[in-house]
Amino acid sequence: MVNLTRHLWSLLLVTLLALTSLPALAENKVDSVRIWPSPNNTRVVFDMQAPPEYTYFTLSNPSRLVIDLSGTKKSLDLTKIKSDSKLLKGLRYSNAKDNQSIRVVLDLKEAADTQVFALAPTAPYGNRLVVDLGSKSENQVVAVKQSNTGAHRDVIIAIDAGHGGEDPGSIGRAGSYEKNITLSIAKMLAERIDRTPGMRSVMIRSGDYYVGLNKRTEIARRSKADLLISIHADAFTTPQPHGASVWVLSMRRANSELGRWMENTEKHSELLGGAAEVIQNTASERYLTQALLDMSMDHSLSTSYEVSREILKDLDKVTKLHKNDPQAASLAVLTSPDIPSILVETGFISNPTEEKNLNWDKHRQSLANSIFVAVERYFKRVPPDGTLFAQVKRDNRTHKVSSGESLSLLAQRYNVPVSRIKAVNNLDSDIVRIGQVLMIPQ
Ligand SMILES: [Zn+2]
Repeated sequence: MVNLTRHLWSLLLVTLLALTSLPALAENKVDSVRIWPSPNNTRVVFDMQAPPEYTYFTLSNPSRLVIDLSGTKKSLDLTKIKSDSKLLKGLRYSNAKDNQSIRVVLDLKEAADTQVFALAPTAPYGNRLVVDLGSKSENQVVAVKQSNTGAHRDVIIAIDAGHGGEDPGSIGRAGSYEKNITLSIAKMLAERIDRTPGMRSVMIRSGDYYVGLNKRTEIARRSKADLLISIHADAFTTPQPHGASVWVLSMRRANSELGRWMENTEKHSELLGGAAEVIQNTASERYLTQALLDMSMDHSLSTSYEVSREILKDLDKVTKLHKNDPQAASLAVLTSPDIPSILVETGFISNPTEEKNLNWDKHRQSLANSIFVAVERYFKRVPPDGTLFAQVKRDNRTHKVSSGESLSLLAQRYNVPVSRIKAVNNLDSDIVRIGQVLMIPQ
């Protein structure tokens, strides 16, 4: 009897607990709103308590995006959220459909392409409702180094700092975000490239914002890049794996390695990051016709392999290697069959020593340097048509400065104006040092 009463009591308690933890009707709420502006897009993220149930529509004159969240109660003062975005003026509530939902209005500065989707929790974030606003006026701001090499174009290297904004990439044990490390290395690499006559960098992202993966290749393609280098840091569930690796990106399922890689969901989801739109867009990534693929693939792939091999040679001098040979990967998400594309995993952020190193300025600089040296060497050896590198190779004219030589002396000897030599070598002054190797234009 006593036992039975106790039993009944505990049953009642369980029922009561179940009742109290059952969601009341308007149980969801917005915990915070984050705005990630980039030059052409803005991502607005609503951090939700539970998976959002939503519908949305757009209005014009003035442009607005209206989102109805059902089973959700008001929590934040939306008008207090500051927006630096070129597309988003601000947020506010409007009259909801019913008393169990809220209506959020995004006031836009201009009509924008909108995508709204929910994201499941991935560390460090919980449930999210994501709004991607894309500028309809595609005046992409790409910083262009003034080409001072006359008729000869620069070798263009598109540099893609992995992840960004809402998508932190992998997170190290000490709390480092991959997105910050990749951006730092990317900037260092760009700086080296832009200091080099005959080369120019294009940064796919230059700040802490997310760029859609299809968009990344599009930017590379639009800037007529000769090579796309994507910078990442690896991660694994255990702290042991370490070392850098270089991946050749292709759309073709070229070998068995690739098959295995595709099964490595760990890695795959890491690269997909928080980008649900990528999954949505994977089909559209295959818009390229087989003909185009076949035409450009062989050249692209062989270039990618060769550059990767060069990079591994130099990375080996500054860091441990995870894999000694280029790895093949078919990332529908980051490939551009017409542009040689490679992905450099600069080390394992999940390995405590490497995480520490990746946070060290000097180490990142030496990683960037070794990538640069390898890429420069490759393109000097195999220069694309029409580039300064191609001309210099054809003329085979470089000059190592010896004691007593000056610019004017060399100008006379090669019958080229001093100004041309200075322009081609990016020289600010007339001073040259002994041992310096100068390119001598026609
Ligand atoms: Zn990554």
